[in-house]
Amino acid sequence: MQVANRKTVAFSLTLAALTGGGVGIATEPSTSAGWIFGAATFILVAGWGARYPLRRFLVVRKPLSPAVAAWLRADFPFYRYVERERFERDIKIILAEWTFEGVGEAEVTDELKAAVAAGAALLLHGRPDREWSSRRTILLYPDRFDDEYTAGEEGEFEGMAHSQGPVILAVESVRQGWENPADGHNVVLHEMAHLLDYESEFSNGTPSLVASESAAAWRELVRKEIRRVRIGRSILRRYAAQNPAELFAVAVENFFERPELMARRHPELFAALRNIFRIDPLTWGP
Ligand SMILES: [Zn+2]
Repeated sequence: MQVANRKTVAFSLTLAALTGGGVGIATEPSTSAGWIFGAATFILVAGWGARYPLRRFLVVRKPLSPAVAAWLRADFPFYRYVERERFERDIKIILAEWTFEGVGEAEVTDELKAAVAAGAALLLHGRPDREWSSRRTILLYPDRFDDEYTAGEEGEFEGMAHSQGPVILAVESVRQGWENPADGHNVVLHEMAHLLDYESEFSNGTPSLVASESAAAWRELVRKEIRRVRIGRSILRRYAAQNPAELFAVAVENFFERPELMARRHPELFAALRNIFRIDPLTWGP
């Protein structure tokens, strides 16, 4: 993630120069102060274009809240591996731009928000050129929920991502996900992987992070891995065999949480995910 995207800034400045210049030239014959109108238009248009970068600039200058900083230090299992300054900057941006709402008994705490933001920041940590495409709403449910979105221990879902709507996460599952960082099961990483998938044209297990020249090979690899799950020859849980989107989401959980096992048992899948995320969880280098 970036505070100011170079292309957007260049576009805003070009647009401001063109409209400002146009207004200046158009008003010059009727008034000798055409350049003032032109300059005012330039400032207005450039200011409009700069509003998001400016907001981010102000957000990242503020320190993390003590509760978020404490959660990262004590409870985020990958904290020692990430580039802290950049990672914390991304956390600040996500916390400022996403909306977090508690449903029912669920209380939205800074720690809980950090536990969600950390998963989102982790997935794009190796891809600083990429952004989460839109502002997201995270609905925090007190417990698992069923297909009518009723929370309770009987519920089968720990989380659910929607392409245009909110991401739902069960608070208890979020906690357990980070408390057990080596079991290949983390609902935050799982649902954030689905969000990445939604950013491509279709949610089909091929996120836009996959380079177009490797998309066909990736799809073939996913088909092969689904077959392996079905015949019980995979480290991925059976749920991954539902469809390519679930295979990708479950594979992401295992890539970060059980990299050694995945690299040994699924070297091709591990290498493909390393290329997608540009991170190697075995060495924490690119
Ligand atoms: Zn899923």
